[in-house]
Amino acid sequence: MSSLLKPIESISTQYEEEMIKLSDRIWEIPETRFKEFESVKLQTTYLKEAGFEIEMGIGGIQTAFVAKYGSKGPIIGILGEFDALPGLSQKAGSEVREPLIDGGNGHGCGHNLLGTAGIGAVRLLKDLIDKGEIEGRIHYFGCPAEEGGSGKTFMVREGVFNNVDVALTWHPNSFTSVFNYSSLANYQVYFEFEGIASHAANSPHLGRSALDAVELMNVGVNYLREHVSSSARMHYAVTNTGGLSPNVVQANAEVLYLIRANTIPEVDGIYKRIVKIAEGAAMMTGTKVKVKFDKACSNYIPNDTINKIIYDKLQLVGLPAYNDEEIDYAKKMAKTITPSEFSSAIEEIKTIYEESRVDNLKDTDYPFYPEVVPYQKSTHTMAGSTDVADVSWVVPTSQFFATCFVLGTPLHTWQLVSQGKTGLAHKGMLYASKVLALTAIELLQNPDLIDQAKNELREQTKGGYVNPIPEEVVPNRYG
Ligand SMILES: [Zn+2]
Repeated sequence: MSSLLKPIESISTQYEEEMIKLSDRIWEIPETRFKEFESVKLQTTYLKEAGFEIEMGIGGIQTAFVAKYGSKGPIIGILGEFDALPGLSQKAGSEVREPLIDGGNGHGCGHNLLGTAGIGAVRLLKDLIDKGEIEGRIHYFGCPAEEGGSGKTFMVREGVFNNVDVALTWHPNSFTSVFNYSSLANYQVYFEFEGIASHAANSPHLGRSALDAVELMNVGVNYLREHVSSSARMHYAVTNTGGLSPNVVQANAEVLYLIRANTIPEVDGIYKRIVKIAEGAAMMTGTKVKVKFDKACSNYIPNDTINKIIYDKLQLVGLPAYNDEEIDYAKKMAKTITPSEFSSAIEEIKTIYEESRVDNLKDTDYPFYPEVVPYQKSTHTMAGSTDVADVSWVVPTSQFFATCFVLGTPLHTWQLVSQGKTGLAHKGMLYASKVLALTAIELLQNPDLIDQAKNELREQTKGGYVNPIPEEVVPNRYG
C-alpha cells in the first residue's frame, strides 16, 4: 500500500487549469443561500462531462446535488460549499475596498474555493479508481446555503447522508491546520409582530405599535444575557421596522434572532425563554406575535481517528510555495489587516495548538503562517457555527483549514473577497484537493480505520441525535 502521493501530484497538475477556471467562474457569479443556480450548473456540467452520475435536488432542495462515481467499496462523501455573502462585492486583487457592484454579493468566505477543491479531489480519486489503484465509492455533495441557511442540516434531516461511511471537507483560511475543535449549536428564528396602524399625532391612542414590541423584546433579551452561560450568544437584526414614516404607528415589524450555545438542548432552553419575552412584549404593546423558525444547526463533533490521517496528509503534501509576485501582493494585503485582526488569528491558532510558535511572527515579514499547525485532540469550542456539524452527528466527519489568504485575513471581509481569485487562493485550493484525496485513499486502503472512526462517533453520540430543524420548516431563500 502506498500513499499514492506521486500519482496524485501528477493528476492534479493535469486538472489544475480546469479547477482554477471553475473556482474563478463561481467567484464571478456570487450567489447566496438556496439561490446558487448558476454555481450548481457550472459544477454539475463539469462533473457530468467528467463521467460522474448526478442527482439533482437532493433532500428536496433545488440547489443541492450529489455526483457519484465507483461501484463497490465504502462511500467517501466530500462536502462542497459554493454560496456567497450579501454586501461584499469587491474587485479581485485590489488592496483597497472597491465594490464591483454597490451592495452586490461577494465570495467573502472563500466558498468558490471550498467546493472546487472538493470537485478536484473526486476528480483525482476517479482517475485512480479507473486505473485500478483504489476501490471505493466517491460522492461529491453539493451543499448549498452554508451561510445563514444551514443547507446541510436540512440535507441530514432528509437522510441524504445515511449511507455515507466517512465525510470529509475543508475551509479556506489564513493558516493551515486540522479543524480539531467543536462549534456552537444554533437556532435562527423570526419574530413577527402585528399591531394597528394609526396617525402618530392625530390618533396615537388608536394605534398599537409593532415596532415598540420589537424594541421591548430586544430590551428583554438584553436583560436575559446575564442569565445564560458565558459561551451562549444572542444576536438579532431588525428585518422590518414597519416603514420609514415616524408619523404612522408601525403596524408590522419583525426581528430575526440567532441564538447560539454549546449544545442544542441549551439553545432550546434559551429559545423558549426568548419566546416568552416576545410574548411579553406583545402583551405590553397590545400586538400579536408570530414565531417563525428559520433554521438550526448542531454542535460539531471532531473525529480524532480521521483528524490524525488529515494531519499526516497536510504535512505529506507540503505547504505551497509562493512566487515573488504573490509574496509582494500578500505583503500589501497584510498592511490592510489591523493588529487586532492579526492577533485574533494568532489566538485562534493557539486554541488549535497551545504551544504554536507564533509569538515571534510579525504581520508583514512573511505574511503566511510558516507551517502546518501541529495537531492535538481538543476540547475547545469555537464561538461560531457550521452546518457541517449535523453531518458530523450522523457520519464520522473531519475537516481542515488550508491557507488561501494572508495571515490574519478575517472571514466575511472585502479583503478575503479580494484574495479569492489570486495565486494564493488557487494554490491553497489545489493543496486542499490533494489532502482530501489522499485522506480518502488512506481510508479506502485501510477499512479498519473507517470502523475505528465509526466506533469513535458511536461513543460520542450515545445520547442519540435529533435533527434540530422541525419537520414542517422548509429552506428559506429570502433571508
Ligand atoms: Zn465559510
